Amino acid sequence: MSQPNAPQALSDTRRDGMSDLAPRSLAAQAMGWIEPQTRAVVRPLHLSTTFVRDPDNGYSSGYSYARPDNATVRETEAVLAMLENARAGALLFGSGMAAATAAFGALEPGDHVVAGTVMYWALKRWLREEAPRRGLTLSFVETDDLDALRAAIQPGRTKLVWIETPGNPLWTVTDIAAAAEIAHAAGARLAVDSTAASPVHTRPLDLGADIVMHSATKILNGHSDVVAGVLAGAAADAFWERIRGIRAGSGGILGPFEAYLLMRSLRTLHLRAAAQAEAALRLAQRLSGHPLVRRVLYPGLPDDPGYAVARRQMRDGFGYMLSIRVAGGEAGAIATAARVRLWKRATSLGGVESLIEHRASVEGPGSACPPDLLRLSTGIEDTNDLYGDLDRALRDAHAEA
Ligand code: PLP
Repeated sequence: MSQPNAPQALSDTRRDGMSDLAPRSLAAQAMGWIEPQTRAVVRPLHLSTTFVRDPDNGYSSGYSYARPDNATVRETEAVLAMLENARAGALLFGSGMAAATAAFGALEPGDHVVAGTVMYWALKRWLREEAPRRGLTLSFVETDDLDALRAAIQPGRTKLVWIETPGNPLWTVTDIAAAAEIAHAAGARLAVDSTAASPVHTRPLDLGADIVMHSATKILNGHSDVVAGVLAGAAADAFWERIRGIRAGSGGILGPFEAYLLMRSLRTLHLRAAAQAEAALRLAQRLSGHPLVRRVLYPGLPDDPGYAVARRQMRDGFGYMLSIRVAGGEAGAIATAARVRLWKRATSLGGVESLIEHRASVEGPGSACPPDLLRLSTGIEDTNDLYGDLDRALRDAHAEA
C-alpha cells in the first residue's frame, strides 16, 4: 500500500481486501498507510498552504490551496469516515460548533428544524439566537418521546431533525432508527450529535441517520489538547456538497497540526473508549448505592429510562459520561465539586483525565439543567481512586453543610 493521499489509499485498502478488517484494526494502523518515500508508518504533517500547478494548468495532485483541502486533514477524515461507515466521507472543522452550524447553514430560509430539548446548551442557544435570523423556524421537543417527535414534524416544511444521544447533561437516549424513520417519512434528514457515544459505541449512519456530528474535541481526540469538529455523511448528495462548500467558503477547516494530533488519537480510540465506558459503568453502579446521591443518570444502568434503547443501539459499553444528582441539592453539589482532589473541576469531556462540573453554573440563568446535578466525564484513572475521591468529597461537603 503506497498511496499519495487518502482517497487513493481508501480505494487501495479495498483492493487489498482490507475492508474486511474491524474498524479498530484499521484505526490502530491509520488505515495501514505507509509514507512511500521513507516507508514510515506515520504519515507526514502537511503544512503547505499552496501547491504548484502542472504545466497544463491542472492540479494533478488534487490539491491547490489549503483552505478547501489539506492532505493531513483528508487522511484523518478518511479514518473518521471509516469509523462511522460514512459513504459520503467526513469533513473536519475547527470546532464542533463550526461543524454543527455548517449543517444548519446548508438549510434554506423558511425551512423548519426539530431539535431536542436535551442537547449541548451552546448549540441550543445558537439555534435560538442565530437560526431565526437565517430564516429557519424551530421546534424543541423531547426526542426520546417518539410520539412527541412525530407531532413536532411539519411535513413538507421540516427539513432537518437534530438529535443528540446520549443527550447532554441528562444522558437521555433517543432511538436513532425510529427517529430516522419518522424524519424520512416527512421528507426530512436526520442528523445525530454522537459526541457522547463515539463511533465505538454507536454508528448512527448504520441505523438510518443521514449525518453524524461529533465535537472531536472530546473522546475522538481524548487528550484535551485539540478543539475540532466533524460531520460524516451517508450520501454525497446536494446537501452534503453544500456543507462542503460552506466549509471551503467560510474557512472553517481544521488546521493540519490539529488534524495530525487527532489522527494520533484515533489510533487508540477503541482502547480509551472501552476503558472509559467500563469505568463510567462501575462508577454509576457504585454511586447508585451512595447515601448522598439522590440519582445517577447513566444509560448503562438497567433502571435508566434509556437502557432498553441504549442496549439496542450501543455496543461495547454505554459511553464515558454520567451525571449524579446530589442529595444536598445545589449547595451540596457545588460544595462536592469544590472538595474533589483527583477529579478536575473543569468543563468539557472525553479526555483521559476525569472531569467534574456543576453544569447549571456553566449554563447560567435559564439553564434547564437541574441545580443539584454534577456532570462527570470519566477518564482512565483507577476506578477505586475515582470513587474514593468522590465519596470523600460528598461526605466532606455533607459534614460541613
Ligand atoms: N456537542 C456536544 C455534545 C458537546 O459537548 C460540545 C462541546 O462541549 C459540542 C457539541 C461543541 O463542540 P466544540 O466545543 O468542539 O465546539
